[in-house]
Amino acid sequence: MLPIPKKVVVIGGGAAGMIAAGSAGSRGLEALLIEKNHILGRKLLITGKGRCNITNTVEDVEGLIGSIPVNGKFLYSAFYTFSNHDLIELFNGLGLETKVERGGRVFPASDRSNDVVKVLKKYLKNNNVTVIKGEVKEVVSDNKKVSRVVLQDGRTILCDSVIVTTGGISYPLTGSTGDGYRFAKENGHRVTPLKPALVPLEIKEGWVREAQGLSLKNISIDIFDEDLKKIYSDFGEMIFTHYGVSGPVILSASSYLDDFKKHDYRLVIDLKPALSEEQLDQRILRDFDKHANKIFSNSLRELLPQKLIPVIVKLSNIPPEKTVNQISKSERMNLVSLLKNLGMHIKRFRPIEEAIVTSGGVAVDEVNPSTMESKLVKGLFFAGEVLDVNGYTGGFNLQIAFSTGYLAGLNC
Ligand SMILES: Cc1cc2nc3c(=O)[nH]c(=O)nc-3n(C[C@H](O)[C@H](O)[C@H](O)COP(=O)(O)OP(=O)(O)OC[C@H]3O[C@@H](n4cnc5c(N)ncnc54)[C@H](O)[C@@H]3O)c2cc1C
Repeated sequence: MLPIPKKVVVIGGGAAGMIAAGSAGSRGLEALLIEKNHILGRKLLITGKGRCNITNTVEDVEGLIGSIPVNGKFLYSAFYTFSNHDLIELFNGLGLETKVERGGRVFPASDRSNDVVKVLKKYLKNNNVTVIKGEVKEVVSDNKKVSRVVLQDGRTILCDSVIVTTGGISYPLTGSTGDGYRFAKENGHRVTPLKPALVPLEIKEGWVREAQGLSLKNISIDIFDEDLKKIYSDFGEMIFTHYGVSGPVILSASSYLDDFKKHDYRLVIDLKPALSEEQLDQRILRDFDKHANKIFSNSLRELLPQKLIPVIVKLSNIPPEKTVNQISKSERMNLVSLLKNLGMHIKRFRPIEEAIVTSGGVAVDEVNPSTMESKLVKGLFFAGEVLDVNGYTGGFNLQIAFSTGYLAGLNC
């Protein structure tokens, strides 16, 4: 008689869950993937603005670890077992063409995240994974060994192991409502405090609302703390919103900020980073010569986006009706300084629901880094965002989900 294959239940059909179920199936296990949404990979579909920044081409494991500010070292085995290059090879082999953009960011060549979900579904099919639509209510263990999962509709599935890949609590409409933290706690695990990471920032100054919707490209930013210590610098894109600021450089900056009760952070935007103060002054002088008889507020159209002009005019303290030829040198120098140092105070993070990832989660000192198995309950595994690990923007968070999911699938 043939031996009965071990049965593994994977809870959550996101990035981590699909890879975990496929890698378990590839070993000949009976792999069941339970997802509460009607479709798999709902969050994956909205990643990278619908293009899905799958991973990053950073050369080696050290490079990956260096891009994971929270508990990066926990991921050595996961990255060595299934690296960014292994992931690209797997996806290419399944028929997904990929391309590399600025900063090593890897996307599907089609620019469609749906194509990533499609190859993951193919991976599930190739490895005989059974997908079940259902919501897991409870993960039950007996004598410190996983025994079954119970679904909301009352179904019970007996199994040898369970991989929890339920994600965090950010963007809960995609299905990540934090159930995995409950499963972990009910099985004796510690869950570290949940905080938003890669999250937009609220700004104290009311004028930002006037610029809402304005997106700025090729700007540089600095963030200073209350002691005027520079804690972050970046160059790229950002956007003003009704509450403050968002966009790539802002989301990345948020990883370097914490406790707003202790710190008074100031964001300073250089609107013209390619020009020194002297060069910008020369440029403004040329514009002012051209528009000598115009009023100040009508003289900035070639220099600034339309939406920013009223804001800059107001902050410059130069009367808007003043004709350009009446503007003094010191007023002009103040304008130059304002454009190079547009400053504002950061009030707080936007709520965790709006964060790209959840920081905090299942404490990693209670999970075996070589297998992703719980150190407390045999047969219980965790992978993906439910763990207390998170990375910078650039494809690192999905790589964490794929690497930890793959490793759990190999060891369950
Ligand atoms: C807007 C946005 C853009 C992003 N862009 C990128 C990007 O381009 N690159 C990048 O690297 N990262 C990106 N991220 C982060 C990345 O999407 C996540 O880190 C990653 O999806 C986490 O994968 P996961 O499988 O752990 O969790 P999820 O993808 O959240 O999957 C969890 C799944 O579990 C299911 N589930 C939960 N509870 C239950 C239950 N009780 N029973 C059954 N099923 C359950 C959920 O429905 C969900 O499908 C982005 C995030 C957001 C919000």
